[in-house]
Amino acid sequence: MVAATVPYGRKTQHSPAVKEVHVLWITAGLGCDGDTVSITAATQPSIEDVLRGAIPGLPKVYLHNPVLAYENGDEFMKYWYLADDGRLGAFVLVVEGSIPNEKIHREGYWAALGTDQRTGQPITTCEWIDRLAPKAVAVVAIGTCATYGGIHAMEGNPTGCMGLPDYLGWDWKSKAGLPIVCVPGCPVQPDNFMETLLYLLYQVAGLAPMIPLDDCLRPTWLFGKTVHDGCDRAGYYEQADFAHEYGSPKCLVKLGCWGPVVNCNVPKRGWMAGIGGCPNVGGICIGCTMPGFPDKFMPFMDEPPGARLSSVAIGFYGRVIRKLRGWTMDTANKEPKWRHRRPELTTGYHP
Ligand code: SF4
Ligand code: SF4
Ligand code: SF4
Repeated sequence: MVAATVPYGRKTQHSPAVKEVHVLWITAGLGCDGDTVSITAATQPSIEDVLRGAIPGLPKVYLHNPVLAYENGDEFMKYWYLADDGRLGAFVLVVEGSIPNEKIHREGYWAALGTDQRTGQPITTCEWIDRLAPKAVAVVAIGTCATYGGIHAMEGNPTGCMGLPDYLGWDWKSKAGLPIVCVPGCPVQPDNFMETLLYLLYQVAGLAPMIPLDDCLRPTWLFGKTVHDGCDRAGYYEQADFAHEYGSPKCLVKLGCWGPVVNCNVPKRGWMAGIGGCPNVGGICIGCTMPGFPDKFMPFMDEPPGARLSSVAIGFYGRVIRKLRGWTMDTANKEPKWRHRRPELTTGYHP
């Protein structure tokens, strides 16, 4: 009889502490669904790998996202009501889009999902968050709108909208003791989000320690470095070799790149399957992952104020270094003089 072929890794793994986890993903904040669309491009891991059980050690995961779901209407909404009644089991709440302030208008509402079965009235996005956040094992804000307010929360907006930490409180904790987890980006880099969700699923399963977050509630391993730290063009910056028009391979700071002061790993990670990465492929960094986005980075395409000083300061040093490196490179591009076919040995060898 042939022995059952269970992979060795599966035999040695701990079982997850919970067998099933639902991901309730509300896209009814003020947003464009761009983060949902973005994660369909994830590969590390892909959403398919997580949902189809291809990743060892994970509980069974069910996704409820209105843009990606096969169900619609009441069939889709039933999971939300079950979660509200405390009958869904363990779930992670994902919030996409900024949270409007429903206290500042006299009538109507800014954003809603589904209908209250008792009153026949729309259930506002804020009400869903109020109902579900206390029951979730973890709450994740995806995209800069949901994390810090983003584009909809610009100066002059009429909705008074904000990010999830502003709404729930920066010190808020889930019933499992987790802070709000913020994965910013406009849109989010797909693997950044899926990797964070995977980490949280492992944590819910009892197989990972507390997720490390910075002061802005971002995963530290994803947002601990700047765009500039990982930019393909940083060598040009260091030599004060700046682009003055698009299409140049040189540093884009004079064209409005904010990379030196922006926490984002996109130049290192790429956008999809390692390809792309804003400045690497010619696009200035406009700081889309940052709590101050967009107001503090506007007008886009103007040289950042701090960049003028730093690029002047590096100008003298960079020009001298570039010159010296040019001479050294000329030398390094020439072979040593003893490589010849004359009838004499000039290598310096003495028998
Ligand atoms: Fe759309 Fe950007 Fe807001 Fe995401 S963060 S919902 S991509 S506007
Ligand atoms: Fe830094 Fe931007 Fe220049 Fe890249 S293009 S080196 S991120 S300033
Ligand atoms: Fe946003 Fe800049 Fe990162 Fe590009 S490099 S995703 S513009 S923060």
